[in-house]
Amino acid sequence: MTSKINIHKEADVMVITVNNPPINAGSTEVRQGLLDAVLLFQDDPSALAAIIIGGGNTFIAGSDIKEFSQPLAEPHLPSVIEAIEDCPKPVVCALHGAALGGGFELALGCDARIALEGTVIGLPEVTLGIIPGAGGTQRLPRLIGIEKSIELICGGVRIKAAEALKLGIINKLVNDDLLGNAITYARSLIGQKSRIRDIASPQADADSVLIASQKALKAGKNRPNIQLAIEMISNAMTMPIDQGLATERDVFQTLRVGVEAKALRHQFFAERKLFKALGANELKPKSLERIAVIGAGTMGSGITIACLTAGYSVLMLDQNEAALESGVKKVTDYYDSRVSSGKLLADKAVAILKGFTFSTQWPEIASSDLVIEAVFEDMQVKHAVFQKIEEYANSDALLASNTSYLNIDAIAEKTSNPARVFGLHFFSPAQVMKLIEIVRCKATSLSVMTAGLQFAKRLGKTPVISANAFGFIGNRIYVAYRRQCEFMLEEGAYPEQIDQALEEYGFAMGPFAVADMSGLDIAWAMRKSLAASRNPEHRYVNIPDALCLAGRFGRKTGLGYYQYPQGAKSGVVDPLVKQMIEEASTSKGIVRRTFTAEEIVNRVLLAMMNEIAHLVSEKIVGDVTDCDVALVNGYGFPRWCGGPVFIAREMGKEKLHAEIDELALLSGPGFMKANLDGLFE
Ligand code: NAD
Repeated sequence: MTSKINIHKEADVMVITVNNPPINAGSTEVRQGLLDAVLLFQDDPSALAAIIIGGGNTFIAGSDIKEFSQPLAEPHLPSVIEAIEDCPKPVVCALHGAALGGGFELALGCDARIALEGTVIGLPEVTLGIIPGAGGTQRLPRLIGIEKSIELICGGVRIKAAEALKLGIINKLVNDDLLGNAITYARSLIGQKSRIRDIASPQADADSVLIASQKALKAGKNRPNIQLAIEMISNAMTMPIDQGLATERDVFQTLRVGVEAKALRHQFFAERKLFKALGANELKPKSLERIAVIGAGTMGSGITIACLTAGYSVLMLDQNEAALESGVKKVTDYYDSRVSSGKLLADKAVAILKGFTFSTQWPEIASSDLVIEAVFEDMQVKHAVFQKIEEYANSDALLASNTSYLNIDAIAEKTSNPARVFGLHFFSPAQVMKLIEIVRCKATSLSVMTAGLQFAKRLGKTPVISANAFGFIGNRIYVAYRRQCEFMLEEGAYPEQIDQALEEYGFAMGPFAVADMSGLDIAWAMRKSLAASRNPEHRYVNIPDALCLAGRFGRKTGLGYYQYPQGAKSGVVDPLVKQMIEEASTSKGIVRRTFTAEEIVNRVLLAMMNEIAHLVSEKIVGDVTDCDVALVNGYGFPRWCGGPVFIAREMGKEKLHAEIDELALLSGPGFMKANLDGLFE
């Protein structure tokens, strides 16, 4: 037995306990220990049934993903499951906490499954670019049919034990004493074997399989592993189970070592590292329960919703009655629509809204633990607001600004205790977008940053940590990205061509469609404010200014990079814009040339990589993989491509240097090649 598996006997029942905290991940040692235990059980004449159960808080909540980057060590999970199926005596899986991925596949290899109420069950492998590799695609369809298996496996859906019972995935649901109930259940099976592999192949109507497949492919962005998962599940209808299992394993092994799975593992670890560090952090920061949000506009309402949904009590404050009323309406409308669309129970909405208060009166913020400022993007206004906050908030409350571009140090310096001031940069819509930039200013204390991380975690957000600098991490990269796209416009590409190339690559939206959506006037105002400090020697593309001068501010004016005729869902190519772009090239003596989609994507990625390397050199980002996290979670970068840092590492230093040198030539004066070493740290 390995140290990860304990066994003991309860009279005629052998109890095999997995002991690999914190999540009982299915590592090599766990697999070896389970295999040894099953063989021991088989050879023990006094044991007539066995139970596999998780020690601590959970059953096996997934495989050890770290092992996926290397050749997997023996024994593989299918061999463990084969031993359970070949054992002539019944083995029952007792589930609590989470039974996910390989953990759930192990359970499907047993003769029965009993679960504690609330247990989460699922096969989330597709989210890591792979498919279930230990029989999930063959055994689950034999229990619940093809269409439902496509839905659960291709969506990586996690279901609760009560639903699993309804679907027939588990045999029994209990409210308490999982082990005791499992022993009783196992005894009732003594002398029997009840293997899923012996259930007849599932059959399904071709049309309904097609509908389920199309839905899954659309939701899964047509990724190859989704297509393959559908194929494997469909094999269950026609192939004998052993052939289906072998085919599934081959596909799993190929996908596992592929670049897409590697990219997704990179994101997985990059997104979790801050929370992991949080777990190891010994600081006990201030616990936050009451939040005050100052400003009831677009961001203030979204932040309020995000906090309320996470169970905080929230006071929303605005200086303006009408603005407050409109913000309150946005919040209540949001919960009303969640209830009417069936996404939230009415009682839950009532309970959430019990924590919601609003006011125009500053003294109301006195009891808040955290005050988040989301007022107009204007330094004078921010200073005035922070003065009010200092006057009325508790002296140990944390103070955060949601500014996008203003210098938070300058805000902090005017307060009496800058150690408690930091940035919480949410993205719009704040109740939806996963990314949050936590901005550490010069004086921000470590315990305030830790409290900020805990806050982000409770909100269900994915945080990155940025130093206080113009545009923080995400907007800074985005500006370099958009500038490179503008260069290409000037050199011969058109907005629709660039947008299409990037959308086909996997971006949620191309940069010009995004610009039209968010409004060209905001960036124009910013450019005008920076005009005096711009180096006239640097390359500057006039096209966005020309569009703004022509009153084309994007969707809201019906015209931008595209035109938006009444009722159009997306922009339509506008010959006038083409003409304006061609004139801009001519005026600079640029001979326009054609671009391939590959070249467009490549230039964008390289521009991002170079800017990220600058962020590292300037110490704006501490862990460079935070840049990939920011782009994927806040800017629509395709997750399965990993992010620019991942791609740079795949390219290798030598190739990257050569390509950035070429990009520098194409970009012209003003392009600064960064020290690229930072991408590889
Ligand atoms: P908004 O104009 O929609 O809302 C600002 C609100 O602040 C208004 O309701 C206004 O009445 C209120 N306000 C102004 N001065 C005030 C004062 N002295 N006291 C109390 N309330 C006051 O603006 P927004 O889009 O929600 O942006 C708010 C902040 O969030 C800005 O700093 C902005 O840069 C930042 N931000 C915006 C976005 C976005 O996409 N809109 C994204 C990230 C961050």
